Amino acid sequence: MNIHEYQGKEVLKKYGVTVPNGKVAYTVEEAVQAAESLKSPVVVVKAQIHAGGRGKAGGVKVAKSIDEVRSYATEILGKTLVTHQTGPEGKVVKRLLIEEGCQIVKEYYIGLVVDRGSGRVVMMASEEGGTEIEEVAETHPEKIFKEIIDPAVGLQTFQARKLAYSIAIPNELVGKTVKFMQALYSAFVDKDCSIAEINPLVVTADGEIIALDAKLNFDSNALFRHKDILELRDFDEEDEKEIEASKYDLSYIALDGNIGCMVNGAGLAMATMDIIKYYGGEPANFLDVGGGATTEKVTEAFKIILSDSKVNGIFVNIFGGIMRCDVIANGVVEAAGQLGLTKPLVVRLEGTNVELGKQILAGSGLNIVPADSMADGARKIVALVQ
Ligand code: ADP
Ligand code: MG
Repeated sequence: MNIHEYQGKEVLKKYGVTVPNGKVAYTVEEAVQAAESLKSPVVVVKAQIHAGGRGKAGGVKVAKSIDEVRSYATEILGKTLVTHQTGPEGKVVKRLLIEEGCQIVKEYYIGLVVDRGSGRVVMMASEEGGTEIEEVAETHPEKIFKEIIDPAVGLQTFQARKLAYSIAIPNELVGKTVKFMQALYSAFVDKDCSIAEINPLVVTADGEIIALDAKLNFDSNALFRHKDILELRDFDEEDEKEIEASKYDLSYIALDGNIGCMVNGAGLAMATMDIIKYYGGEPANFLDVGGGATTEKVTEAFKIILSDSKVNGIFVNIFGGIMRCDVIANGVVEAAGQLGLTKPLVVRLEGTNVELGKQILAGSGLNIVPADSMADGARKIVALVQ
C-alpha cells in the first residue's frame, strides 16, 4: 500500500527523521491558511498524488508570497498531472502539501528496499539525488552504493558512515546523516515497509540533513498490525475495480488490454495472461477468484470485469481441483444470465466433474464457447475479440 508524501513525512518524523514543517490542504483557502501559519518567507506548494516525478510535471512550485501560494494552489488543485509514474492518463490532484521552503546546498538519494537476492533489507545511497534513480542505475550504476543490513543487529553505524562518505556528505554532517539513516531504518522495519525512498535528501545552507521528499510503501500482508497506517489509505488513488474486488476477496489487478480473464489460482491466472499474449491478444486484467469461489463471487467477478469498458470478451479458465467444475459452470451460467452478457465468452474447464460442468454450460442456452485446452481457449477468445 502506498501513502502520500505528507503522510510519509509524518510517519518518519515520529522516528526522528528530519522533515520540513508542512501541512496538508484540500482547498485553496486551506493552502493559504497553511502557508500563513508556517511563517516562512518561501513556501513550496506540492501536489499530493501516489506518483513521483511531480516536479518535472509542474506539480511542485516555490512560492515567495501568499499571493503566489494562492495562484499555485489554484493552478495545481484539480489538475491532472502526468508524470513518468502515472501512465498517460495521469492523476488528478486533490490534496496539496504546503511546506516550508528550504535552502538546498545539494541533493542526495537514500532508499531502503527488501532485496530478493540477499533476502535482506538493503540501504542504497547516491550523490545523484533529485533525479530519477532508475536512470542513475542504468547509466551510472557505480554511483549507487549499497549496504546489506543484518536483521539481527540492524543498520550498523559503520555501514551508515561508509554510505555517507561514499556519497560525499560533508565531513561535519556525517554524524547527522548516520542518525538520519538509522531513524529511517527503524521506521522501515517497525512499520513493515517494502520501500522507503528519500529523493532528495538535502544538505541545507544551515547545515541540516532533511528529507525533502518521502515515498513509503507498505507490505499489504503486514497491514493487519498497523491500523494507523491502514487509516492513511487513499481510495481516490486506487483503481475502483480493484477496491470492489478486494471487498469480495478477489485478487484483481486492472491492465490495459481488452480480454477479461477469470481464473482460479494465481499461477494459472499468470499463465492465462501469458497464453493470451502468446496468441496475439491483450489481457484486460489479472483475476484470481480463489479456491472456494461461490456463485456470488463468480457473479461479482463478472461484474467487475464487465465494468471495464475496454473489455470486448471474457476468457474463463478454471481448473477444478478443490473447486468442482459443475459449481463453476453454475456460477458462470447464473452470472451471465443475471448480467445479460452480450460479449463473447470462452470457457475452458478441466478437473473434477468436468463432464457435468460442460453439460451445464451446453444446456444453458447461453452463447458460451467451450474450449478444450488453455491454448484452444486463448486462440478462440483472441479471434472473437478481433
Ligand atoms: P518529485 O520527486 O515528485 O518530483 P519532490 O518532492 O522530490 O517531488 O520535489 C521535486 C524538487 O523540488 C526537489 O528535488 C527539490 O529540488 C524541490 N523541492 C521540493 N520540496 C522542497 C522544499 N520544501 N524546499 C525547497 N525545494 C523543494
Ligand atoms: Mg522526489
